[in-house]
Amino acid sequence: MMDCLFCKIIAGEIPSTKVYENDKVYAFRDINPEAPVHVLIVPKEHIASANELTAENAGVIADVFLAAKEIAAREGIAEGGYRIVNNCGADGGQTVGHLHFHMLGGRSLAWPPG
Ligand code: 5GP
Ligand code: ZN
Repeated sequence: MMDCLFCKIIAGEIPSTKVYENDKVYAFRDINPEAPVHVLIVPKEHIASANELTAENAGVIADVFLAAKEIAAREGIAEGGYRIVNNCGADGGQTVGHLHFHMLGGRSLAWPPG
């Protein structure tokens, strides 16, 4: 996808701090962290948002959550706990049009979010 920020990050055209990668998933530190651990977990396939998931591409959700489990262990937050968030669309607060999941941890998180 030509003009997608996260496709460019996955391709290495824009630098990022990688924390995990496999053939399906890329994960990197958020540039504006909201918690001591704030990692963005992104399917390598360009899917614009959760609204664009289909029976054919939804396997990436399992890939993302299996990656999250591994990242939580590596980051030392598996025991203490963490939150995985997907923002979808304008009201959901989505600002980058490539499906991604925020992993937040390393502190106690309030609920509900604003
Ligand atoms: P959204 O608001 O779409 O759910 O999340 C987008 C996230 O991407 C935000 O938390 C924002 O800080 C992060 N972000 C935006 N641009 C960049 C960038 O160039 N590099 C990194 N590492 N994160 C970014
Ligand atoms: Zn993309």
